[in-house]
Amino acid sequence: MKTKYIFVTGGVVSSLGKGIISSSIGRLLQTCGYRVTIQKFDPYINIDPGTLNPYEHGECYVTDDGMETDLDLGHYERFTGIHTTRNNSVTTGKIYQAVIEKERRGDYLGKTIQVVPHITNEIKERIKANAAGGEFDFIITEIGGTIGDIESAPFLEAIRQLRWELGGNSLCIHLTYVPYLKAAGELKTKPTQHSVKELQSLGIQPDILILRTEKHLNREILQKVAAFCNVSGDAVIQSEDLPSIYEVPLNMHRQRLDKTILAKLGMDHMEGHEQSLSHWEEFVRKEKDLRTGVKVGLVGKYDLQDAYKSIRESLHIAGIHTGKKVEIKFVNSENLDASNVEEALSGLDGVVICPGFGSRGIEGKIEAVTYTRTHNIPTFGICLGMQMMVIEFARNVLGLKDAHSSEMNPETPHNVIDMMEDQKQLSQLGGTMRLGGYTCELADGSRVRDIYGKDRIRERHRHRYEFNNNYKDRFQQAGMRCSGRNPESDLVEIVEIPSLKWFIGTQFHPEYSSTVLTPHPLFVNFIKSL
Ligand code: GLN
Repeated sequence: MKTKYIFVTGGVVSSLGKGIISSSIGRLLQTCGYRVTIQKFDPYINIDPGTLNPYEHGECYVTDDGMETDLDLGHYERFTGIHTTRNNSVTTGKIYQAVIEKERRGDYLGKTIQVVPHITNEIKERIKANAAGGEFDFIITEIGGTIGDIESAPFLEAIRQLRWELGGNSLCIHLTYVPYLKAAGELKTKPTQHSVKELQSLGIQPDILILRTEKHLNREILQKVAAFCNVSGDAVIQSEDLPSIYEVPLNMHRQRLDKTILAKLGMDHMEGHEQSLSHWEEFVRKEKDLRTGVKVGLVGKYDLQDAYKSIRESLHIAGIHTGKKVEIKFVNSENLDASNVEEALSGLDGVVICPGFGSRGIEGKIEAVTYTRTHNIPTFGICLGMQMMVIEFARNVLGLKDAHSSEMNPETPHNVIDMMEDQKQLSQLGGTMRLGGYTCELADGSRVRDIYGKDRIRERHRHRYEFNNNYKDRFQQAGMRCSGRNPESDLVEIVEIPSLKWFIGTQFHPEYSSTVLTPHPLFVNFIKSL
């Protein structure tokens, strides 16, 4: 079978949830028996989102092969259970970088380098890169931004050309918004019509329209849109606001989006494969049935939903699997000190100490750890959160008063968190982060060994600093166990205090590998313990 391409574009306004729609389409095609991958093409000029402030762009998601990417890749993985790779996240910056490198090498043999064809050819190659291994039946490509943006023009031109080259093997799905005018009491389709016209003027006729709306759209409205926009009646789908993003695939399925996609490509569900959404339906049913609640504090410095997206979703998903409604309370670590920590944390059933970079808000994180450790409140430290657990223990249990991370205080006499020698060398060369999946060995008899139910795991990293092994014995003797280690480098990947109810810190990010149908064991166990 030839690889099929689905392009997902957005119009009218941004933030319509293209990522959720792309993920839902991916999930539905999987349930029809197909192998799917989803990739994101972003029109901004940063090479990757790694350097973007979370206030600008939400969390930075990391793939197993060590690429810093957009948070939509987190949705793709959570919805479909697939592993994305560095091929699945491309920006304008990356495209230009590749073209300019080729130009410097002389690959273009003295030609004038232009947006068309050089940039557009590079985009086309990247769109097709995931097809090379023959691993996927469908490649879904989400184009970031909104139709009409100057930045997205080369991407749309590349899609226009590809649609010609691919013949019947591609589809374009356009997501728009139908506003409700309260004063007039009317739903308005004009912005959708304009947005489709704009796409058409770029030479792209959408095959399927998905209309985001706060109110139900009746048949008449859907048919009007179909008639004005040159799409068939069954190809106008509505995406009404729902209580949970996980209901979106079911809503799309009810409107036969999966069938329409396959029919337009001249396909049916995979032979011998009966479509089944039962696991997903059960998950959504459980989500609706959640009764008992637990309160989890998220101690971090970004007061923004998207900044800790994967952690929030991992907690929520783990709650659904354990029958607990997780209520998250954000606690800004910048405002935390000894005088108010009790007030901020005392009513909570558990606390997550969030990842992060730089000094802002870290003393508040350390204060939070002191409180949860001494009050035996279940605590989960992730990356910088784990490092703060280590520093707090060094200061208040080992009595190493000025213990710190050399990230925050390069002069500290007790660098319990430090940059390793080979990292220091790398740092001089410009690249320093430990990124992507690494193996970790779990110590016999440890809590984590029990939770994972195996002795070797693979988890994703994104950090520069590490636990300093020179202090390992002192920590272990005083009751903080180093229960996970990297077998090649001997770096400490997990710490735990076995005498407490639940006190585990991971140098890696378990939130990146928690999915809807396979929740992460650490998150599940953490929520269970509350
Ligand atoms: N800033 C810390 C480091 O670089 C932790 C990073 C993180 O939390 N992702 O090691």
